Amino acid sequence: MDQHALWQIVLAKIEPTLSRPSFLTWFHDTGIAHVEDGVATVSVPNGFMREWLQNKYHKAILHALREANSDIKDVSYVIGQTETASLGSALKDRIARRKRALAPSLGEDMSIRELSVNPETSLNPRYTFSNFVVGSFNELANAAAQSVVKNPGTTYNPLFIYGGVGLGKTHLIQAIGNELIARSPNVKVRYAPSEKYMGEILDALRNQSMNALKEKYRSVDLLIMDDIQFIARTEKMQEEFFHTFNALYERNKQIIISSDRPPQAIATLEARLRSRFEGGMIADVGLPDFETRLTILKAKAETKEIVMGDDVLKYVAENIKNNIRELEGALNQLVMASKLSSAPITVDTAKKVIATYAAAPKKFLSPKKIIRAVSEFYDITEKELMHQSRKKDVVHPRQIAMYLMREHLKNSYPSIGEKFGGRDHTTVIHSCEKVGQDLLTNPELVEELKAIRERIFLN
Ligand code: ADP
Ligand code: MG
Repeated sequence: MDQHALWQIVLAKIEPTLSRPSFLTWFHDTGIAHVEDGVATVSVPNGFMREWLQNKYHKAILHALREANSDIKDVSYVIGQTETASLGSALKDRIARRKRALAPSLGEDMSIRELSVNPETSLNPRYTFSNFVVGSFNELANAAAQSVVKNPGTTYNPLFIYGGVGLGKTHLIQAIGNELIARSPNVKVRYAPSEKYMGEILDALRNQSMNALKEKYRSVDLLIMDDIQFIARTEKMQEEFFHTFNALYERNKQIIISSDRPPQAIATLEARLRSRFEGGMIADVGLPDFETRLTILKAKAETKEIVMGDDVLKYVAENIKNNIRELEGALNQLVMASKLSSAPITVDTAKKVIATYAAAPKKFLSPKKIIRAVSEFYDITEKELMHQSRKKDVVHPRQIAMYLMREHLKNSYPSIGEKFGGRDHTTVIHSCEKVGQDLLTNPELVEELKAIRERIFLN
């Protein structure tokens, strides 16, 4: 039996024993690197996942492997060495199918978004100008983007795009990368969310591979750094980015940056970086008006080859105002509903489907979402997370949950303590500081938080 088939069997055995989020989190991009002398070497994407699989799933993996192939006596883990590329993609297919089956509301786009990223550039081919709707809310940003496509590295350098969550920043800046490559295939592009970049810096510091990392980021024609606001949290990261920025800038290489707010509003951003950013083009993305929201919905409905009454689309556009990702999410749910029923979708159905969004347009992020994501991620119950359990396993998740509430919701320390079974605010302060400190030295924790945040924002 080949390794690919072997791993598929193992996954098929493990999958039903885990919650869906855990399975997706811990087994995506895994494979078997090789089997030798009775030892199967499992390939994983990063050190954090290696540790986790070793500590938590080793027994299950070994057991499943042995059942499938009795010659196997042990398992070892290695980072990023899957022999055949198809291994990863086979699992991706499985996961995509599984996601569709289990979570219809995610719709198809979600799996594509997560799963077909180009490993060279980290660009997602789904983000193009051809499916990017322009309206007055993003006109300036789009014009600046077009001008960068025409004259990269010259007119608008750096290009700094800012705006709220789910308004198309990532889409737009990746579209620039995809378009440049479409025009000249030899152009070297690298896209990185700043948190990933920071994780790589920490890894490189630890493994003394800083030069390779510098090379990776300084040898490109276009660097796209998404959500730069996270970098501003630490001096070390800003320092490193500053040098990379300069190295590119001096050679007229294009730099594109996005943020949730303008440079002057990023409190801890170093003056020298801020002045670099302000030396280029700064463009905001605002909120789409009703007409634009409707256009976006119509465009998306069309690509899904679904016929939906104008009244239905109008109802959705009227009720979801602040976030294009939610607009898309609602549409996906309607598409699912229409596939499941033979009758056409009515406004009444739309009302039900989007009640969740419409009822809480501002509550896109809530303590509840954070708590759910954290407990799912660590495979513990919400109750264990919130209450007085002193089980060692829950201390860390709880600190993370507190940290995220502070970070994302700006909740006060006492109110966070309150939520966690009436803990004292000093405990909360200690937890938040600890996580903050650990993040500076522990790349695995950076990965961990990134995975949790993804879950918070995607669900
Ligand atoms: P941000 O980075 O600002 O949080 P994203 O770029 O991730 O937002 O956009 C959220 C979702 O909305 C994505 O699926 C994206 O494709 C879609 N989207 C955003 N803006 C537009 C637009 N102008 N036209 C079409 N789709 C859009
Ligand atoms: Mg984004």
